[in-house]
Amino acid sequence: MLMANRRKFLKLSALTAALVAVNKSKATGFFSSPQTKSIKPIVISTWRFGLQANEAAWKILSENGTALDSVETGVKIVEADPKERSVGLGGRPDRDGNVTLDACIMDEKMNIGSVAFLQNIVHPVSVARAVMEKTPHVMIVGDGALQFALDQGFKKENLLTPESEAEWKEWLKTSNYQPKVNVENHDTIGMIALDAHGNLSGACTTSGLAYKMRGRVGDSPIIGAGLYVDNEIGAATATGHGEEVIRIAGCHTVVELMRQGLDPEQACKKAVERIINSAKLRNKPLSELQIGFIAINKNGQHGAYCLQKGFNFAVYSPDIRNQLLDAKSLL
Ligand code: ASP
Repeated sequence: MLMANRRKFLKLSALTAALVAVNKSKATGFFSSPQTKSIKPIVISTWRFGLQANEAAWKILSENGTALDSVETGVKIVEADPKERSVGLGGRPDRDGNVTLDACIMDEKMNIGSVAFLQNIVHPVSVARAVMEKTPHVMIVGDGALQFALDQGFKKENLLTPESEAEWKEWLKTSNYQPKVNVENHDTIGMIALDAHGNLSGACTTSGLAYKMRGRVGDSPIIGAGLYVDNEIGAATATGHGEEVIRIAGCHTVVELMRQGLDPEQACKKAVERIINSAKLRNKPLSELQIGFIAINKNGQHGAYCLQKGFNFAVYSPDIRNQLLDAKSLL
């Protein structure tokens, strides 16, 4: 009797597990098992500098590497480029002339690492990865982040290039803090990728808004705001006025909208609509804001949306061999 009951119980459990698996696959849009499905890797990233970052990231993806390695390697290209004035070395300083950097990284297992208000280190994304892999914490900021980076062997460097310094000195003449929309004085590289193993990861790194107050931190190092990855659903990253992205927990919102069945473009569009609604509540003029979201889902589809014209993003996949695309805009 006991054995018969046990057999019945085991049968039932197996059936329940199978049903759960079917429902789960419906929810994620997967109907074939990962073993039979051929996964096409893809990497997408924000703004024009995403093209050079994608090249490096794609090299890793095409050699069967991990999405995590690809996004870190990709964004490091832009961090190290002194000509790019909104990320890493050569980034525009805060209003006191200090280049302060924010970055985060997230993998397919919900491992996260982040640094904010970090100075004098060219690769904050790699420090974020070290926070993720080598500490019990997920976010370290300011002097603590610098100390941690130095302990990990990162070198202290001056990040304020003569060009950025000259521009800052020019700005000091008026000291008018008015973040511009699009590429003039802010941009972040956010990058998300799906690898051949079917795993998603993302990274986001920035010097933040030019001439910000000392200690200001935007959305870019905040998991859920500037970046979010859920390996069952998809990944999203953001650029633009970070205060607005934080307010709606932007990238987590995009991923949750994809969970509800929206495709990446629709999900990004809905998140931008929420930004508009929140700005309207506070009578914030929309013309002064720019926000761009990019997203990929677990099936490798990509999408983007922005508040106003001018935001572009780079896509590299077996079908789209590194192209810069204009995001649709709501205004
Ligand atoms: N989102 C970044 C920040 O607010 C800036 C940007 O993407 O332009 O710090």
